[in-house]
Amino acid sequence: MKIAFIGLGNMGGGMAANLVKAGHEVRAFDLAEPALAAARENGCETFTDPKEAVAGVEAVVSMLPNGAIVKAVFENDVIGHAPEGAILLDCSTIDVATAREVIAAAEAAGYDMVDAPVSGGIAAAAGGTLTFMVGGSEQAFQRAEPILQAMGKAVIHAGDAGNGQAAKICNNMLLAIQMIGTCEAFTMAQKLGLDPQTFYDISSVSSGQCWSMTSYCPVPGVGPQSPSDNGYQGGFATALMLKDLRLAMEAAETAGSPTPLGGHAKELYEAFAAENGGLDFSAIIKTLR
Ligand code: NAD
Repeated sequence: MKIAFIGLGNMGGGMAANLVKAGHEVRAFDLAEPALAAARENGCETFTDPKEAVAGVEAVVSMLPNGAIVKAVFENDVIGHAPEGAILLDCSTIDVATAREVIAAAEAAGYDMVDAPVSGGIAAAAGGTLTFMVGGSEQAFQRAEPILQAMGKAVIHAGDAGNGQAAKICNNMLLAIQMIGTCEAFTMAQKLGLDPQTFYDISSVSSGQCWSMTSYCPVPGVGPQSPSDNGYQGGFATALMLKDLRLAMEAAETAGSPTPLGGHAKELYEAFAAENGGLDFSAIIKTLR
């Protein structure tokens, strides 16, 4: 297929390269020249005008920083400029309301469009092992699925427009709460005289077991390899977790859904991110020691 790709940063760069590897012709646009240079090296054709990039394509994929940018890019440069009948896919993490608004505008102009945010970081984007949670009509999902398959290991239809974003922020809010709980439990166990490995051996086969413990342990040297073993470098940046928690709190307010622990997790990550935004989110254990 002929596919336009907009936003070739840490995530989009690897995703576009995987579309090329799958045999697609990728027309890349980004505001940053270094991102375009990397895309050229990965086999994309690059453009400095987004309207030119989307001309004549069968699909448009975007991976952009936030909802305001997604809305501006689709309303100004994609809708009405990509050929009628093209399928539009936004893979960015953005607020549910903007995702629904942009998809409604695309549908009103005759396009199928999905929101398809991802789980998995830069390594999964490069390796083609992302999980996509997809919101949109059945027809839009059917059309988007094969394109997403080329960039991921799982593609799941979450329901109507915006439901992909809803799944993403609910999942990440749960992850943040779970990570803070895991950090508290390990720190307290240690202060009560338990060796962290011993606590892991017990809790990982008891009812406190969770992903933050057994797949991503915040204590160095315990459990499988994770960012804690590497000075909390790499992994999922605290600043990105905070972004997702802010989106989750916005959505909770709109939906009238109480999130006392989600709200507290957001406050704790806000305080920690002020000086540690670049560290992996499991580094929040440092605030308890
Ligand atoms: P990034 O900042 O590395 O990349 C964003 C790219 O968009 C940049 O290259 C930037 O130049 C480009 N851009 C900005 N405005 C643009 C515009 N108007 N037109 C064209 N290009 C524009 O960010 P990232 O880490 O690749 O994240 C992208 C999205 O993926 C975000 O929504 C983020 O929340 C989500 N996400 C990131 C991760 C991660 O681990 N990095 C994981 C899951 C989801």
